[in-house]
Amino acid sequence: MPSFVNPEKCDGCKGGEKTACMYICPNDLMVLNPDAMRAYNQEPDQCWECYSCVKICPQGAIEVRHYADLAPMGGYVQPMRGTDSIMWTIKFRNGNTKRFKFPIRTTAEGSIQYDKTPATGSLDDALLFTESAGRATCKPSDFA
Ligand code: SF4
Ligand code: SF4
Repeated sequence: MPSFVNPEKCDGCKGGEKTACMYICPNDLMVLNPDAMRAYNQEPDQCWECYSCVKICPQGAIEVRHYADLAPMGGYVQPMRGTDSIMWTIKFRNGNTKRFKFPIRTTAEGSIQYDKTPATGSLDDALLFTESAGRATCKPSDFA
């Protein structure tokens, strides 16, 4: 589901040259209408659905909706960012609403340390799936 800016909540990031959603979008989809001072997703069908804009918007103005063929049926996802968590509100098309609260990561970027030295070739190795050095230890015979 792509992002959709609710113009009633968006304040154009108070007139900054580059809004938060424009800054964060990896696909440069968000643009600001300078007359209305409201942002919008210029190509929803190109949206990666990464939800970065949804999470960064200081006004909570960005919803996630279905495409136009499904949108009239209702249903959307709306996050509300707090200081230590994000409350996700899910509205189902039958009218039901559910809310999920997830904590925001508070550790400083790059501060996480592995608490063990990975064992070479171990399938429990934390590096196995993310580091080329780890992958190199995995041989076809390991899965035989
Ligand atoms: Fe509007 Fe939110 Fe984008 Fe700022 S980040 S321009 S408030 S939608
Ligand atoms: Fe861009 Fe991701 Fe927002 Fe889509 S969900 S408009 S790709 S930041």
